[in-house]
Amino acid sequence: MSQTAVALARCIHCLSETDSPELDHVFPKSWYPDTTPKTVQRWTAPSCPKCNRAFGQLEHDLFLRMIFCVDSKSDAAAGLAAKALRTMGLDAEGLSDEEKRRREATLKKIRSELVRTEELEDKPGKIPGLGPPEGVESPRSILIPYAGLSLMAEKIVRGCEYRINNRFVEPPYTVCTFIANAEVVFPEAMVTGVKSIDFGPGCQIKRIFAAETPKVVRYWITIWGALRFSVLIDLHEELEKAKHLYKRPEGIEPPDKPTMRIRPYLREYKD
Ligand SMILES: [Zn+2]
Repeated sequence: MSQTAVALARCIHCLSETDSPELDHVFPKSWYPDTTPKTVQRWTAPSCPKCNRAFGQLEHDLFLRMIFCVDSKSDAAAGLAAKALRTMGLDAEGLSDEEKRRREATLKKIRSELVRTEELEDKPGKIPGLGPPEGVESPRSILIPYAGLSLMAEKIVRGCEYRINNRFVEPPYTVCTFIANAEVVFPEAMVTGVKSIDFGPGCQIKRIFAAETPKVVRYWITIWGALRFSVLIDLHEELEKAKHLYKRPEGIEPPDKPTMRIRPYLREYKD
């Protein structure tokens, strides 16, 4: 009898070792628009099965809500709204009865979460970049938990750090996400390294750091040409000190109806 050594790998998210690592797509596989060139490298990074499943669900839940808040005719989101409609059983053919029921339930759930836009007027919490194009009225809106977006941005950054530097972002370093309002403006004075990461029209990333502090990194991520994140990796205490400098979106109280929930697992391991 021979013994086979089990290859252990570390999960980039929860940082634990797993003997059954899975490949997690750094930018979610289903979020790539149809316009993505074949030459784009769809990076993956090691994940434990539990994190991979939890993030997979989060990606799916966010996708169905966010994709109708971006310009579906743009190159950056080409084909994605149609894909989301099929996921909800619309324009989808040849489905089994069970699959039909599953998709109808998804559609019903999304519909139940819609709120009249006028109910939200004058309330804080609108996420910059999401919503109908300028001048277009949309009678319905949907609530998206900011924590879900923040988890996604952090996931992408952890994946990029792993792919670029084989790095696991771990204490005393941590990750903090902000929603960026505008195009990237580099604080040029201190920047020595700028890298562009190209996942095609659906996701563009810039990574910068200063030579004397290579572990302190700043990312800008643009998703579907609309949603912009600024993500910092720094010492935990430095991020705590700098928090007041960065505006985080104010949330609104969920109205008296169902909204998207984030799986407890993702919240638990983050806390
Ligand atoms: Zn994990």
